[in-house]
Amino acid sequence: MTQTGDILIVGGGVMGTSMALELARRQVGRVIVLEKSFLGAGSSGKSGAIVRQHYSNRLTALMARKSLHVFERFEDQVGGPPVFTRTGMVLVVNERDRAGLEANLVLQRELGVQVSMVSARELTDIDANVRLADDELAVFESEAGYVEAVQAVHSFAEAARRLGADIRLGVEVRSILTRASKVVGVDTNEGKYECGTLVLAAGPWAAQLARGIGVTLPVQACRTQVALFRQPADYGRRSAVYGDFVQGIYFKPTHGEIIHAGSLAGEELKNPVDPDNYDEAADSDWLPTIRQRLSRRLPAMHRCYGRGGYGALYAITPDWHPILDRIPGIEGAYCAVGFSGHGFKMSPIVGQLMAELIVDGQAREIDITPLRLARFDEKDLVTTPYSYGVMG
Ligand SMILES: Cc1cc2nc3c(=O)[nH]c(=O)nc-3n(C[C@H](O)[C@H](O)[C@H](O)COP(=O)(O)OP(=O)(O)OC[C@H]3O[C@@H](n4cnc5c(N)ncnc54)[C@H](O)[C@@H]3O)c2cc1C
Repeated sequence: MTQTGDILIVGGGVMGTSMALELARRQVGRVIVLEKSFLGAGSSGKSGAIVRQHYSNRLTALMARKSLHVFERFEDQVGGPPVFTRTGMVLVVNERDRAGLEANLVLQRELGVQVSMVSARELTDIDANVRLADDELAVFESEAGYVEAVQAVHSFAEAARRLGADIRLGVEVRSILTRASKVVGVDTNEGKYECGTLVLAAGPWAAQLARGIGVTLPVQACRTQVALFRQPADYGRRSAVYGDFVQGIYFKPTHGEIIHAGSLAGEELKNPVDPDNYDEAADSDWLPTIRQRLSRRLPAMHRCYGRGGYGALYAITPDWHPILDRIPGIEGAYCAVGFSGHGFKMSPIVGQLMAELIVDGQAREIDITPLRLARFDEKDLVTTPYSYGVMG
């Protein structure tokens, strides 16, 4: 039987559910989310979900800032339990990257971000376990922290449901249906759904779905890895979140005295995978390299307990920034894809901006023109002075 919705969202990750909430808030007709597995089954449920505002471009720093304000009061603004833990974030760079770092600080301060350069001594007041070498610089962003990712996705979905959105799990979109260059629906394992508006929020699966309607989305599904280590019993106070450019890793505290760590070196690009068939375990020879780098920054972690890790997916674009746009040539089709390993922190504002684009014809809160799809053909990429793509 054919089912009908006004706006159909493909993908029940943090982007699909955030957009569902914002669209449902606007009461613009029947909003349906189709998720082939379960909520957060893609990148979102495995995310580190660190929220920091340290970016080298104003647009993404602003998107992070506006989203942080939602995460900080998630229980009031979205509903469900609080999801944000404020830890502060330490960024460590080599002295030779001072110019890039200082430029970012200027940009962050202009946006009102609380951030300051800290000496090795000041840093030990923030985290007694940390060590900084003489040729290293550290910056502390006090408002940063991390989100309980799975809960946030569920709370977005629940809030959208309360406002009338229909969130359907186990429904796989097999193809997007068009007539005379207009979206008319999708074909799924449950039959057809008709719609006048379709939003692609399928994360690492987005490019393959778009290919079916002759659209090339430069979004590559790539495998990333996470290492988990239990802190020693005498570790003391919980750690901050770190972006350690010198060691090429990020790390953050997570449940049960565990530190979650992963690479910042952009190595994911060497690992393009089939998102339906990739290794969900961490490589046994990768885990010790992360442990070694983590222990150089936090010497107490030489005595940590390895707790394994996991493989996960990034959806990476050529400039490591997302695509928020209409799908050209297909009236009624939109995409919010390619978050390149750092999208979770922007999910509240992405929901709002996409709802504005769809309902009002234009994103109003922030100009998202730099994130248009055509930028890749126009060679007008979002650039960063950092070589660490994921930090943007
Ligand atoms: C290990 C890891 C650490 C990360 N750390 C951070 C971080 O610290 N900070 C940060 O901001 N970001 C981080 N990210 C990135 C962030 O998690 C992602 O950018 C974000 O979750 C992307 O959300 P999404 O909704 O676009 O995609 P996804 O969560 O992948 O959702 C896409 C959904 O679409 C569904 N789907 C796909 N195809 C179909 C279909 N044909 N029919 C129906 N449903 C379909 C999938 O099942 C999936 O649930 C991290 C990501 C990972 C993997």
